[in-house]
Amino acid sequence: MSHLNTRNTLFLGLACSSMALTACQLPIGQHQTVKLNPVGAHDTVTTNNTVTTKASTPAKKAPSTAKAKSHKPHWGYGEEGTIAPAQWGNLEGNATCKTGEKQSPINIKTVFKVEKPLNLNKNYQAENFTAKNNGHTVVFNASLPARNQISVNGKVFNLLQFHYHAPSEHQVMGTNYPLEIHFVHKSQDGQLAVVGVMYNIGQNNAQLEQVVNNLVKEDKTATLSMFDVSSIMPADKTTFAYSGSLTTPPCSEKVQWLVQKTPVNIGAEQLEKFTDLYKANNRPVQPQNGRIISFN
Ligand SMILES: [Zn+2]
Repeated sequence: MSHLNTRNTLFLGLACSSMALTACQLPIGQHQTVKLNPVGAHDTVTTNNTVTTKASTPAKKAPSTAKAKSHKPHWGYGEEGTIAPAQWGNLEGNATCKTGEKQSPINIKTVFKVEKPLNLNKNYQAENFTAKNNGHTVVFNASLPARNQISVNGKVFNLLQFHYHAPSEHQVMGTNYPLEIHFVHKSQDGQLAVVGVMYNIGQNNAQLEQVVNNLVKEDKTATLSMFDVSSIMPADKTTFAYSGSLTTPPCSEKVQWLVQKTPVNIGAEQLEKFTDLYKANNRPVQPQNGRIISFN
């Protein structure tokens, strides 16, 4: 496990004890051992009440191996024939991508321990998923969403699907992980709760193998049989929670984000299977605009 984790845990434990609302400034730039994918550099400056973050210098993005659509410009990540994230808000129906003030992802740097911590319960079981490549990522759609649920402060959300971004969309202390998987849940009244899990290069992850083996190309589908999503989530339940948006157009601001603090291992060769299909399919971090990130 990286120094990053140890240091965070230690620091949070020491500095954020019993006060009702305690700011925990995470240490920056020291002993960060998260391995970065060089294509994931961001150029967005994030500002909030307490910190100004200049993310890493823009790096030249490698072109996605996915074929760009040639007929008309469509949103994408700047690969040939697509509209890059900075321009998404100019596309019809996507103004929120530009005008929204609660956009995602963000750089998770200053977190708060709140008096009434968010109560997150996960109730997962094995379920069938259909893998579909949508031209931006591979989405694994649940056959029966109600079989997998989470509750957030008593409100129930069903698991609709999960999909990936490489490198991660959220940053922790200005650093991207090589991979982030989003588990998208929806409540009966249409609100979304997304559990974000980070993956860091390490030992091969046997639980991820079924996902890796079903990363289908465009226009292909596959079935993930009786897969338990909890098997590719961290055992540690520490969660960074904040209010944000979809990270793809139309960037709707109706998402309760639940980013898991502890990363999960992924083998280098396994990661390559994800990035061979899509890499740099991550929206840059957005301004925090004073939003509080709680943790518990
Ligand atoms: Zn996503």
